Amino acid sequence: MLKDENRIFTNLYGMHDRTLAGAQARGHWDGTAGIIKKGRNWIINEMKASGLRGRGGAGFPTGLKWSFMPKESDGRPSYLVVNADESEPGTCKDREIMRHDPHTLIEGCLIASFAMNANACYIYIRGEYIREKEALQAAIDECYAAGMVGKNACKSGWDFDIYLTHGAGAYICGEETALLESLEGKKGMPRMKPPFPAGAGLYGCPTTVNNVESIAVVPTILRRGGGWFAGMGRPNNAGTKLFAISGHVNNPCVVEEEMSISFEELIEKHCGGIRGGWDNLKAVIPGGSSVPCVRGENMRDAVMDFDALKEKGSSLGTAAVIVMDQSTDMIKAIWRLSKFYKHESCGQCTPCREGTGWMMRVMARLVKGDASVDEIDMLLDVTKQVEGHTICALGDAAAWPIQGLIKNFRDEIEDRIAHKRTTAVAAE
Ligand code: SF4
Repeated sequence: MLKDENRIFTNLYGMHDRTLAGAQARGHWDGTAGIIKKGRNWIINEMKASGLRGRGGAGFPTGLKWSFMPKESDGRPSYLVVNADESEPGTCKDREIMRHDPHTLIEGCLIASFAMNANACYIYIRGEYIREKEALQAAIDECYAAGMVGKNACKSGWDFDIYLTHGAGAYICGEETALLESLEGKKGMPRMKPPFPAGAGLYGCPTTVNNVESIAVVPTILRRGGGWFAGMGRPNNAGTKLFAISGHVNNPCVVEEEMSISFEELIEKHCGGIRGGWDNLKAVIPGGSSVPCVRGENMRDAVMDFDALKEKGSSLGTAAVIVMDQSTDMIKAIWRLSKFYKHESCGQCTPCREGTGWMMRVMARLVKGDASVDEIDMLLDVTKQVEGHTICALGDAAAWPIQGLIKNFRDEIEDRIAHKRTTAVAAE
């Protein structure tokens, strides 16, 4: 379990002063100019040594991603863009940073931007996050007034501007290239890759898009050293992580914990256990709604990190853990997710535009048992045709929950179809 002295987020629950003075009293904005003066190579090497993997879902090593940015400008500016469009069902961790501990993020933006030769950073925040936007903007204004950002930020010699942009509530704008399109004032439609944002991103300039949590942990990592962060969690799964646990636990919460904590410890220590006890656990979606579910009996001993959950046939994703007990109609739950992805598809590519609607309609019939058994395999086949055949990952996100359902709860689907048949025959 994470020791208090290793906690990066010291005001996650808004119990303390969230102003600049409060953040400084808790150790943030401490020696920021000194970190910048150590230079780009030192920062990027330290981030690589920390083993930090992106906290937005994909888990790509952050230091490595930064190193893809051009070392010398070819005349174009570089940008850091922070993805604060947290819209995945179940995921609600970045909002706690932005509304209660915003200075961790702003300080991280300054240091990360310097490391990537960017004088400007854009934070793109989810449309529905009104209070979070207000809190973050107030913190940015405070930083400008105190000289922490702006010309000669923190007296480091580096000029740095930070802008907060409010989205309009489309899930797809959380996809990094759709986010860039939206930031440029266009419709939020994902771009074909390559070119990748590090080559041609915002306004055609070199850009790195990072998740809020990935950036907010940077200052503390650099103050305490990459080795400190790497010392927590299992190899390749380093550090601390915000877990957002929702659903059928006694105390749903967002909590910072050490990576590789066991699922049982996470639930018992922070959530007061499963509603109705462990025997009542039916399934868990461990990483936000887009990853496959895992049956309850396979989850109790699960290690909560990237590699271990992959071995379980799922993913850590954003570490938004959705817990479902025996009262859950799994088919209906996954149908609801299918409906979400169908609604959020931008419609740009055929497998996703047509496939998400097709899958949602078949799922709707399966909820009622109004289907034949061979349609289960047909549905599985369609998910495979959507997966990996689309411009962006929304196609995969729509396919994986259904694949997880069929793999883990095929018996429940078959039972429902059989029950519908018998009741129909009995009625005749
Ligand atoms: Fe749009 Fe879906 Fe294609 Fe992504 S996969 S570009 S959301 S149609």
